Amino acid sequence: MATLYLNKTNLFKNLQKISSINPNILAVIKDNAYGHGIITISKLLKEFGIKKVCVRNNNEAEMVKGFFEEILIFNPNTGRNGINISYAINSINQLKKNRHPYIHLKIDTGMHRNGILIDEIDEALGIILKKNFELRGVFTHFCCSEEENCDTFIQYENFKKIKKTVENFCKKNNLKKPYFHIANSTALNKLPDTFDYVRPGIAMYGGIEGYEPVMSLVGDVVSVREIENDGVGYNKMFFSKDKVKLSTIDVGYSDGIPYFKNGCKLKETEAVGKISMDYMSVLGEFKKHVVIFDDIKEFVKNFDTITYDILVKMSPRIKRVVIE
Ligand SMILES: *Cc1c(COP(=O)(O)O)cnc(C)c1O
Repeated sequence: MATLYLNKTNLFKNLQKISSINPNILAVIKDNAYGHGIITISKLLKEFGIKKVCVRNNNEAEMVKGFFEEILIFNPNTGRNGINISYAINSINQLKKNRHPYIHLKIDTGMHRNGILIDEIDEALGIILKKNFELRGVFTHFCCSEEENCDTFIQYENFKKIKKTVENFCKKNNLKKPYFHIANSTALNKLPDTFDYVRPGIAMYGGIEGYEPVMSLVGDVVSVREIENDGVGYNKMFFSKDKVKLSTIDVGYSDGIPYFKNGCKLKETEAVGKISMDYMSVLGEFKKHVVIFDDIKEFVKNFDTITYDILVKMSPRIKRVVIE
């Protein structure tokens, strides 16, 4: 059976590197911790000393609520929940319907995907006061932080203004000051100030330059054969005139590998022909295992996609094993 190995040493190195920028980390573990396994990663984060995390929905919050002091749900339902759960508020409408008392206001500073509009901030604060919600955090998300782009600084400046408004409001109304967070992974070292907390995802998992890879995928050999002047797999997309040995590995597109029609580079060899649902054929005679990838930054070059997209789709069915 194929195995996903999670490298604890590298995860901790990445967390240390992020801590050196800002030690207050709101670790993003949405979508099964970017495919790594939400429970396994939660245990490791707790061991490292992470106290706060972000998840996608109420379901994920339920799974990890025993591990952390605060769990911020990016896309919550409207119901009430426990004291260590915070709901992100993505629109004025949601704020009006919301019944959960602990919230973070998301501000649309320029991405125009989600969040309270800058013009709506006074109305939002009014509702919070009237409904007696506890405003725990205020945040925004960058649209272009992986590029050298002035949008990042426009958003940063917008956020600074919002921060002032919120702080004045809290002072005037004798409310506890919320904490402010803005930086996703690629913004970590681009900002003059990362404010109170940083909110990294992909950097922790080593899916961008400067960070160590955490996930490796190792397939098991199912069978070995030799062909000559013949092809392999569906439609025999790979054809060899010469004699070649091929190993069949127990990993296919159902496990989360993007579909390919004509081979793909692996760590120690290459896959040939079309990938099947549950198998792929690789060049060479392997005894037991074949490393499919041990650095997603390299493996992604085979495909027209991003590291996030491959990591997050790794099937939950594959067993996760933590290595040091
Ligand atoms: C996913 C997400 C993050 C983490 O982004 P990375 O690019 O993985 O660091 C941070 N904030 C929000 C709102 C997100 O949705």
